[in-house]
Amino acid sequence: MSALYGAIEAGGTKFLCLIGTGPGDIRAEARIPTSTPAITIARAVEFLAAGRERHGPLAAVGVACFGPLDLDRGSRTYGHVTATPKPGWTNVDVAGGVACALGVPVGIDTDVNAAALAEGRWGAARGLHSFLYLTVGTGIGGGGLIGGRPLYGLGHPEMGHIRVPHDRQADPFVGHCPFHGDCLEGLASGPAMQARWGRPAEELPADHPAWALEARYLALGIASLVCTVSPQRIVLGGGVMSNARLLPAIRRELLGFLNGYLRAPSILEGIDSYLVAPALAGRSGALGAIALAERAAADRLDTGTGGS
Ligand code: ZN
Repeated sequence: MSALYGAIEAGGTKFLCLIGTGPGDIRAEARIPTSTPAITIARAVEFLAAGRERHGPLAAVGVACFGPLDLDRGSRTYGHVTATPKPGWTNVDVAGGVACALGVPVGIDTDVNAAALAEGRWGAARGLHSFLYLTVGTGIGGGGLIGGRPLYGLGHPEMGHIRVPHDRQADPFVGHCPFHGDCLEGLASGPAMQARWGRPAEELPADHPAWALEARYLALGIASLVCTVSPQRIVLGGGVMSNARLLPAIRRELLGFLNGYLRAPSILEGIDSYLVAPALAGRSGALGAIALAERAAADRLDTGTGGS
């Protein structure tokens, strides 16, 4: 019988918690509204502890967390949320809190690296070793695997904060990022759309000029990522992407910006399978937390520090 895992997708508005082994085997699920760290983490731990009573021992727990996170294993604050604008969450040790309460190994990564892991394992990036997952919603974030390993260096990537050309004549909006103004997130996140157009993205009609501009900014950002990271595929998720016309428009713009320079057949002939929607619906992040738990359990066995 395969080992059972706990999973927490820690988001800004809710914590989605699962117990299971993968997308075809979810034994329990809970949605916990994000409030203070103490209350939210305690409720997630409570759910996992109750699930363990009911379904059997958990080999490990994975946490797919909003960032920024300290993921430097040598750091004293490994697994902590760092400088988040979310009130009360700065310096919170999400992974440590869960590990302490449940006494099991805990794996943690960004929500987008976790979503990439899940899409690679079970979803839209199966069989690939190098791909990105981008989310466009309340923020813009990106993660991915390169050569089969989650992308990580100085820190985790901050793909939402890259610069894109901003024609202030055509689009006088100053941008919405508190750090950079008109970075990609500042120009194209859900809150940026709302600030520019005066209503939420989901209320903008499909033929509103907002969408052409949105496709252009996202394609400009993606073109830079394609040229720098050279992913085999890019999975695009997040609430803003729920407008069905947006993805085809980004593909068209992206082909225009690349202008035939990259000769990979997957781009020239297969843009529809190069830039794709997630296959795991709204669960990429939470399922990614299961994949992180698997890795944490395997690490523990590798290092011989326990496990059964
Ligand atoms: Zn920014």
